[in-house]
Amino acid sequence: MPRLPPESLAKWARVNRAFRDTVLHNESLWRNVLALVPGLPACPQELKPIDYARLIFGHWCFQCKKSRVGVSIFELRVRLCDDCQLNLETGVLQEHIPFIPSVIRRYARRVVRKDYIALKTQLETLHGRPLDDFKAEQRERTSKVIEHANALYAWKREEAARCKLERIKLRDDKAMTVLKTLTAEGYGDLVTQFGDKVKKEPEFKIFLKASSTLTTKFWTANSPTIVKALERLRSEHIARSVAKAREERDEAAELVLRRAAALCDLVRLPNLRNSADMAFFPDLSALLADATKSPSDVATVQNVVELQLWRWRWEVLDRPFWEAASRDVHDGNPQGPINGSSLALAMVVFRNTSSSTSSEFRPHYPFPLQVHPLQLANVYDVV
Ligand SMILES: [Zn+2]
Repeated sequence: MPRLPPESLAKWARVNRAFRDTVLHNESLWRNVLALVPGLPACPQELKPIDYARLIFGHWCFQCKKSRVGVSIFELRVRLCDDCQLNLETGVLQEHIPFIPSVIRRYARRVVRKDYIALKTQLETLHGRPLDDFKAEQRERTSKVIEHANALYAWKREEAARCKLERIKLRDDKAMTVLKTLTAEGYGDLVTQFGDKVKKEPEFKIFLKASSTLTTKFWTANSPTIVKALERLRSEHIARSVAKAREERDEAAELVLRRAAALCDLVRLPNLRNSADMAFFPDLSALLADATKSPSDVATVQNVVELQLWRWRWEVLDRPFWEAASRDVHDGNPQGPINGSSLALAMVVFRNTSSSTSSEFRPHYPFPLQVHPLQLANVYDVV
């Protein structure tokens, strides 16, 4: 039993009353157990080993006895919850600070009330030499307690860091075991490609939280979900590469169209997302739809697209405009000849532009609307 860590010994002590009494009152047992904790500063003379173990490894408030709350205040040698910390004495006089261990909590210097009352009584009662001796003794004790408390805090920090490292190592070991087992079961390709990513998936985290030994039962129950997660990662990866390749082909197609239209003064270019537009460019559309084609394949249809652009321009941009203009000038007949003056034409353009709130109508004009300010003034006069 002396080889057990203090936490386990405390658990054993709960087995039954007789056993508990034996364990709790066996001072040398606790002393031996505490000595086995690596790096732990020795138990101070004035503390019982069991109280020292409670201070360091206990998890309940010394005052209200609530479990799993509070922090150990090593200077005061108590463990207190937040509420009970507020009950500590705050009215320590400045000149008494060297004689009693204190701690600063919520901007106030706090001490254990009964200790402070005892100290003050002594300071008031004693006089002369005994008072000086008492002061010297208290001063020495205070500095020793503070020094010991600092050593304990340092040990606790180291211990926390060590535990964290151990936890990380344990997780890594578990992850490695899972991946190795998956590889052994024939999923090596998926593991090589997505092993690192799958570790962050919720399906994998179940394994990391599991107990350190990977039982066959647990494995059989949970490994299919990991395989599914791996397959999901693969399909996501494929979808992303398909989308990226499509984007690159689109960029190349945009470039082909811009080059083809370089010499024309167009209000807009054919839109790759518009099927009516793309119907004029079957070769380009076929290349864009084919996932095996690269951007350089797309560039090979430059000459064909240049010729097709003329037809698109006439059918989509020019003809609807001229028909609209003709309808306006010839009482609704879209086929009538247009021989009006530039002013009449400007009027048509002006009327259509100003009456249409839809932005879709605008692009159908064959040229950008650059009306001379003077001409526009005439149009206003006429209208
Ligand atoms: Zn409490």
